Amino acid sequence: TRRIRMAQRVALSEGGNKKHSRVRVAVRLRPFLAQPDERDDGPCVRGLDSQNLEIINWRNATESVKYHFDAFYGEKTTQQEVFLSSVKPILPHVLNGQNASVFAYGPTGAGKTHTMLGSSEQLGVIPRAVREVFNLVNAKDANEGWDYKIGMSYLEIYNEKVLDLLSPNSQDLPIREDKDKNIFIPGLTHITISSFSDFDSHFVPASLNRTTASTKLNQRSSRSHAVLLIKVVRTWRALHHRQQTGKLYLIDLAGSEDNRRTGNQGIRLKESGAINLSLFTLSKVVDSLNSGTAIRVPYRDSKLTRLLQDSLGGSAHSVMITNIAPEYKYYFDTFSALNFAAKSKLIVNKPFTRETVAPPVLTVKRARETHEAQESGTE
Ligand code: ADP
Ligand code: MG
Repeated sequence: TRRIRMAQRVALSEGGNKKHSRVRVAVRLRPFLAQPDERDDGPCVRGLDSQNLEIINWRNATESVKYHFDAFYGEKTTQQEVFLSSVKPILPHVLNGQNASVFAYGPTGAGKTHTMLGSSEQLGVIPRAVREVFNLVNAKDANEGWDYKIGMSYLEIYNEKVLDLLSPNSQDLPIREDKDKNIFIPGLTHITISSFSDFDSHFVPASLNRTTASTKLNQRSSRSHAVLLIKVVRTWRALHHRQQTGKLYLIDLAGSEDNRRTGNQGIRLKESGAINLSLFTLSKVVDSLNSGTAIRVPYRDSKLTRLLQDSLGGSAHSVMITNIAPEYKYYFDTFSALNFAAKSKLIVNKPFTRETVAPPVLTVKRARETHEAQESGTE
């Protein structure tokens, strides 16, 4: 009897873990952007097919390490292709009262902002997703009985502080949970938007503000998480208190580079530490969601993961796009970004290229420490 009760408890906890859905992980490799005056060592990483890539093994340049992901996007992949395969499929759920999150991870310079925001010629995930949410709502049959309302909030998490980007000079805002376990931020500006151009008129100035502030404040944008929230509330016309809310988070994360290596001191070191807390906790959360073995998902350990608690894992639909760069100077940050994101990896003794160049000797010791710390951390 006692054994049966134990077995039941195990079954229950396993069932409980199954409700945490996986985070889909995609990797996007941006094109090689060599400066004319830079020594050109060629790429250190390359795609193999739509799910696999390989990077030279720094321990032995005749070997490469092969990684497997839910999706791999090579340097020729267009903004439209990334949107269609990774983001568009999750958007209909947001109209049905479910939550979703899309975030861009990776070192500074690897293409996170290009992926999320893009440019006027190459629109990124954010403008495409917002446009699509409006299209989906406008295509709804009025006879279905629901009235839809779309709203937005835009915030930044910097140094473990939550700052409202739609309200200049805002102070650190608290994150709360209501009785239904929905996460919300009291005092955060929420604007109802009626069209894509309405969205743009609020979003563009707020983004520009952030960018301007960032050049003054020591590339603050590479150390903060920019979080756009699109909220879709639908109300049942015949019974107004019947309401469903779907939240879509679109996030340009802080750079994943290891700031200890760049010799930051004082305030910058503190900033780096704080960023590491949110990114480090995010990596633990994604890891426990995807390994399916976690007893407890550590959402409460940082502001970013606390905010995403109801929109990452559970019944939410989540995609992480890991951005990487092919140049050698990104080698160690690429390696650590891949190790964070990988479903599996495999060392293969097929040489990457015949004429490989040895990785930079000066940084190998530090890389070995990082690499071993990561290896022991995942075991
Ligand atoms: P991050 O936000 O990760 O620091 P950015 O998005 O600013 O990186 O990208 C760094 C540079 O690389 C920018 O000049 C950007 O336009 C360019 N870039 C990034 N990804 C791509 C891509 N897929 N195709 C073309 N250019 C890209
Ligand atoms: Mg950026």
